[in-house]
Amino acid sequence: PASDDRKKTQAGNFDIGLSNTEKGVVTRFPPEPSGYLHIGHAKAAMLNQYFKNMYNGKMIVRFDDTNPSKEKQEFQDSILEDLSLLGITGDRITYTSDYFRELFDYCVQMIKEGKAYCDDTSQEQMRDERFKGIASRNRDRPVAESLQIFTEEMKNATEIGRKNCVRAKISIDDPNKALRDPVIYRCNPDIPHHRTGNTWKLYPTYDFACPIVDSIEGVTHALRTTEYRDRNEQYRWMLTALDLRPVEIWDFARLNFIRTLLSKRKLTKLVDAGRVTGWDDPRFPTVRGIRRRGMTIEALREFIIAQGPSKNIVNLDWTLIWAINKKVIDPIAPRHTALLRDGLVTANVTGTDEEIKERAEEKPKHKKNPAVGVKQVHYGPQVLIDQADARTFAQGEEITLMDWGNAIVDTLAKDESGNVTALTLRLHLAGDFKKTEKKITWLATSQPLADVELVDFDYLITKDKLEEEDNLEDFLNDKTEFRVDGVADTNVRDVKQGEIIQFERRGYYRCDVAWTEGGKAVFFCIPTGKETGGK
Ligand code: ATP
Ligand code: MG
Ligand code: MG
Repeated sequence: PASDDRKKTQAGNFDIGLSNTEKGVVTRFPPEPSGYLHIGHAKAAMLNQYFKNMYNGKMIVRFDDTNPSKEKQEFQDSILEDLSLLGITGDRITYTSDYFRELFDYCVQMIKEGKAYCDDTSQEQMRDERFKGIASRNRDRPVAESLQIFTEEMKNATEIGRKNCVRAKISIDDPNKALRDPVIYRCNPDIPHHRTGNTWKLYPTYDFACPIVDSIEGVTHALRTTEYRDRNEQYRWMLTALDLRPVEIWDFARLNFIRTLLSKRKLTKLVDAGRVTGWDDPRFPTVRGIRRRGMTIEALREFIIAQGPSKNIVNLDWTLIWAINKKVIDPIAPRHTALLRDGLVTANVTGTDEEIKERAEEKPKHKKNPAVGVKQVHYGPQVLIDQADARTFAQGEEITLMDWGNAIVDTLAKDESGNVTALTLRLHLAGDFKKTEKKITWLATSQPLADVELVDFDYLITKDKLEEEDNLEDFLNDKTEFRVDGVADTNVRDVKQGEIIQFERRGYYRCDVAWTEGGKAVFFCIPTGKETGGK
């Protein structure tokens, strides 16, 4: 693992900067349109934007679309939408596929200069030779032969062409295996490319295309995750071999979270297997998924800038990022009340006529932040209380009904399992709420309530860190969704989809489906970093 050699600021943040910035800075974020953006991609995109801003430079969003087998227009569109959600637009949007002609010509040039050759060694044998440091039998074939195979057989994807690939002639046995004659071009004739259709039957690899396109697009600093470190030398080799302008490489740690898949390939498997409802599933680490779960872009950005530039690869848990998110939403989330349907207790309230009169009063939605607005709080002679609260009551006990005042438990009947079956509360509004132990949420039955469903989630994966050799199926969590029915105050009928609120004493929730007459609102519980299990 890479050690972290950068200095920290007094605040403990990494003091990050790029070198050689005098001639301006152009960064780029190169997503492959093979899935939806996840939180790891968000980190890469945000860091690129961070440097662009820091040096008043430019940023390119480039679709690295060199593999039609994995790529789709749908993914491309979603990536642009998600980037704009993150506040990232890019000064230019480009496509590696716009350079297929140039890349083809550069490959020809390499072959002509004896820096690349065509090879029809089987994949398995190639892997073995590479491992052992043995040259391919095709390594020293005549230039004319390679040229003919590339420009005719491979270009037309003939039977011979399909068996061949082009390899850069770098080294047979360099200790850095990334330099052992990497593949730079291969045929992929059967699936049309989502942008270039059937024009090309052969495609450059990322290792070949990325440095070239970086260089010709004027990228000055290429940000890459540290797993690419072994390939940095290969990246530079390509540019030197083609006499192209060098690009500075700046590497940063890949983002990993415990019990979380951050690989489009693996996420695709779960989508295709119907294990989740789609790429925006709230259990997914996609930008859409975490947003739907209640993550704010502000918290995401703060989190990434705070720890993002570290070169240490760690397996983070979700606690910290959700804790940051809580700090963002707490001062602005409207407060409401929801009670659980199961075992709901109906209590009679006694007091003076004035006290128990059916009425609604305007109250702030957030006691410390009047800007959040006001809501109607209903009062009356009958209220609902959570069974979990009522069960704890003792005869004669003084409790506080939140936003109303104190009350004394006057009559209390329980069944043999301890569940409350009848309850009368006698208001004692002169009582001091500071002296009661229990502050209870309640709902007057006189209001038109809102039916709600409260949903919580667990991790999809049962193992903290999945290894490459682990079979995904063996580590899928069986039950990851927990739904309970509830009722909420009448104001919840107006909460819109996407709004984040707090149900007092319960937690923060994001409205996934708004309330409709005859239906129910669906709320997803937002983790705060405190719960065990994190997410
Ligand atoms: P995946 O395996 O999820 O498909 P990828 O690296 O193949 O990831 P790309 O679309 O090629 O996906 O990635 C675009 C950019 O995002 C790259 O610069 C890549 O380094 C970066 N990136 C991808 N995953 C992470 C991650 N977990 N942490 C940080 N950066 C990441
Ligand atoms: Mg990639
Ligand atoms: Mg990948």
